[in-house]
Amino acid sequence: MGGGGETKDVIDVEAVVVGAGIAGLATALALRRAGVAARGGGAGGVVVLERHAELRATGAALTVFPNGWFALRALGVAHKLTPRYEPYETSVVTNLESGATQVFRFGGHKSRSGEVRVRPVHRRALLEAMAEELPPGTIRFSSRLVSIGTEPAGGGGGGEELAVVGLDDGTVIRSRVLVGCDGVHSAVARWLGMPEPASSGRSCVRGLAVYPGGHGVRKELRQFLSHGLRAGMVPISDTDIYWFVVNNTVPAGKPAQMPRIKFREAAGDPEKILREVTDNLGRHLPEEFLDVARHSEPDNLTWAPLLYRAPWAILTGRAARGPVTVAGDAFHPMTPDMAQGGCAALEDAVVLARALSSRSPSPSPADGVAAYVAERRGRAAWIVAGAYLSGYVQQGSTSAPGVRAFAVKLFRDWIFYRFVFPLLADTMWFDCGDLVAPAPPPPPRDGGGEEEAADKKSHVGPDHLYHRDTISRVYNVLNKSEVDEM
Ligand SMILES: Cc1cc2nc3c(=O)[nH]c(=O)nc-3n(C[C@H](O)[C@H](O)[C@H](O)COP(=O)(O)OP(=O)(O)OC[C@H]3O[C@@H](n4cnc5c(N)ncnc54)[C@H](O)[C@@H]3O)c2cc1C
Repeated sequence: MGGGGETKDVIDVEAVVVGAGIAGLATALALRRAGVAARGGGAGGVVVLERHAELRATGAALTVFPNGWFALRALGVAHKLTPRYEPYETSVVTNLESGATQVFRFGGHKSRSGEVRVRPVHRRALLEAMAEELPPGTIRFSSRLVSIGTEPAGGGGGGEELAVVGLDDGTVIRSRVLVGCDGVHSAVARWLGMPEPASSGRSCVRGLAVYPGGHGVRKELRQFLSHGLRAGMVPISDTDIYWFVVNNTVPAGKPAQMPRIKFREAAGDPEKILREVTDNLGRHLPEEFLDVARHSEPDNLTWAPLLYRAPWAILTGRAARGPVTVAGDAFHPMTPDMAQGGCAALEDAVVLARALSSRSPSPSPADGVAAYVAERRGRAAWIVAGAYLSGYVQQGSTSAPGVRAFAVKLFRDWIFYRFVFPLLADTMWFDCGDLVAPAPPPPPRDGGGEEEAADKKSHVGPDHLYHRDTISRVYNVLNKSEVDEM
């Protein structure tokens, strides 16, 4: 990457995180809580660079699955959100062409208690819950990364490298670790040499409907499949409903090759976006859905193409170079069909901080970063592939021609929802574990047991005191027998 303006200051910190989205804030928090970035100045040794002047919550809301809640628990913020956001237990999918409705129950009966469930949350609330745990000054707003490089640490003797980034105001920051959490068009991923994301051939309109007097809609995810689209809506609170329409309006291929198409013209124009949903894309949708769309807040209406990085590129691409790596969409952008992008970003943060923590067997930041990538690649590639397949059979295939469309619909209605989706859903109950690796067993000596117990307590906050194995077992269930045809 080329340099920015004139060099102003050179700052030394433990860790630089690029991007204050879900991945960036979670990573900064995880690094602090794991003690990785606890050394250094007022910001605790970690700096988050955000190009915008404030936190941005594009997309209004998202669903956090149990894997996301496990990670949020490890980060110490789950308890701030769960009292505010009620879980939902079911997804009701109606095929508007055949009239068939299927009901899916998330997690079976055993998930009906506790914090770790399926909950929709306002994106802003999630970002703020994490941001307010960071010391003031950690997030450097209006700071765009414009250059990346590395240099030998401490004069070059020990082989360790420092990451060196330049900002658009001329500031240079040196750090022992650099994590690119700069989203799907990540400059850090490009610098590492990861292949560019591809277009899935689909796009998504999202909105947040607000009914000040209350909407009275049942707490469940309603989905409608019809004519090459998948629409969904889920209440987030008594007044707010999050909705989306995934559609086949963009060509597949490299984003750069996309011609100028409708959504680009409409992007940024809420009236056009809404009209496109109510009068065109969504004209076959039930009135109850269109009514929700019409109640949208203009500021929250967005329309964007759905991009992903090929699973093989995640498995084999260069996701680490010395002390530099990527997390969240910068690492593994995916289609939203399993609602996993944000949850996987939260998992990344915990795994990365654990790999870099003082308890990690990795001797240097570069080794820790490499261990993190090795641990995450396989899971990330699997989720991306699962989300793509899920999107293809649920919605993408409905626009396929002739016999192929018929075959895919048959597969979707009789096999996918009954047998394949439950397998994919298993990934949503994954527990990424605690922030700090368990201590090695103490050498046998008198009083060793007490010391070990005290040591564990010093690394694990009160909200981490849960029996992980038990919880994994309890939630690792998607009760197949409850998949019913109505
Ligand atoms: C339609 C849709 C629905 C979704 N639904 C769900 C869901 O229900 N559940 C779920 O878990 N996930 C969902 N996702 C996925 C989820 O939104 C993303 O995976 C998640 O937001 C990624 O967060 P991130 O922090 O990696 O990236 P981003 O949110 O893109 O954040 C990147 C940040 O980096 C900043 N940045 C970029 N470049 C620079 C630079 N050069 N210098 C400084 N800052 C920079 C940006 O301004 C931004 O703030 C959905 C996605 C879509 C598209």
